Amino acid sequence: MALIVHKYGGTSMGSTERIRNVAKRVAKWHRAGHQMVVVPSAMSGETNRLLALAKELAPATHTTEYARELDMIAATGEQVSVGLLSIALQAEGLQAVSYAGWQVPIKTDSAYTKARIESIDDARVRADLAAGKIVIITGFQGVDAQGNITTLGRGGSDTSAVAVAAAMKADECLIYTDVDGVYTTDPRIVPEARRLHTISFEEMLEMASLGSKVLQIRSVEFAGKYRVPLRVLSSFTPWDIPIEEEAKSGTLITFEEDEKMEKAVVSGIAFNRDEAKITVMGVPDKPGIAYQILGTVADANIDVDVILQNVSHEGKTDFSFTVHRNDYAKTIDLLNSKVVPALGAEKVVGDPKICKVSIVGIGMRSHVGVAATMFRALSEEGINIQMITTSEIKTSVVIDEKYMELAVRALHKAFDLDQDAA
Ligand code: ASP
Ligand code: MG
Repeated sequence: MALIVHKYGGTSMGSTERIRNVAKRVAKWHRAGHQMVVVPSAMSGETNRLLALAKELAPATHTTEYARELDMIAATGEQVSVGLLSIALQAEGLQAVSYAGWQVPIKTDSAYTKARIESIDDARVRADLAAGKIVIITGFQGVDAQGNITTLGRGGSDTSAVAVAAAMKADECLIYTDVDGVYTTDPRIVPEARRLHTISFEEMLEMASLGSKVLQIRSVEFAGKYRVPLRVLSSFTPWDIPIEEEAKSGTLITFEEDEKMEKAVVSGIAFNRDEAKITVMGVPDKPGIAYQILGTVADANIDVDVILQNVSHEGKTDFSFTVHRNDYAKTIDLLNSKVVPALGAEKVVGDPKICKVSIVGIGMRSHVGVAATMFRALSEEGINIQMITTSEIKTSVVIDEKYMELAVRALHKAFDLDQDAA
């Protein structure tokens, strides 16, 4: 008998019919002798609907008090889901009980709309499991030290499920979703994209942070920290497929690297269009420049991603970096008003129409020439690289947004990702 956590996303919970299917699937696992904890999201579209209502009535300035109410409102979506799933399980003839985050309790900090889980008390849940019940816990929400309801940020139910699995030392956490696993890249862009049978936790972390939206990034961090065995799989298979088959489907996020080393050097291609490039031109090349530019940006709470500084000519250099597109205008204004005059720089130019394309693979640690293959593939397509950044297991390039799909396709091919290595 194992302790298993299932997480179901909004699409899987999208209608009463689908909830009935979830109940039948969970019942199948329970009847196979497993202790089951289920963490569902709100029904699809529900969180958006709730937040849109709040927005209609929102005050002009968005205070902490306002954020508190947003969480109060958004958390109801998951409360409806757990209640519905619980009665659907009861209709299957099983004992089930649902809990909101505060009832468990799942304790978080007080950062409304993006709270972090601090602790989970599993006593109540364990007692229910021991009594033969299936326990259903709301995703996405918790309670702070003052008893206020908090939410974990969009997509936060993944993190709830992994955190519950970690706290209870579950044997596995299965994330059921509307895709059947993690792919080498987005199949909408590359039809030959292939499902990965396994991906290492570190690769998954890079893929999630580079824009692959299968899992909320915090859930991957959590899984890595507490070594939670995690699997992403489809909730659209027939609920009654044999459990052994289901248990092997999807993509397993692994912690062992050795077996992986034999496989592809690059595991996946990630991309995102969320960034914008900014260049401060004609900056005097002297100590403290990076600090003055990026320190000012950081003080305004703006995250910087790729950074590039070139050699100087006649004592002047250009300094480029990328920020989230939403911060683009704000950053340009900030540089023009504060940094350019203080530094005696020439001017600020920017380009919001860029994208970042990355190759990810732990095999890059032990192979040389991987980046060169990437650059060759891009040059053969006539794609100009504007910036490059690397880490141990990834190489990213910033290019013109209009070549994004072409670049992803070319790289997918160059690294033979359409060929099944497993
Ligand atoms: N319902 C929340 C959202 O839409 C949390 C989740 O689905 O993971 O973001
Ligand atoms: Mg999700």
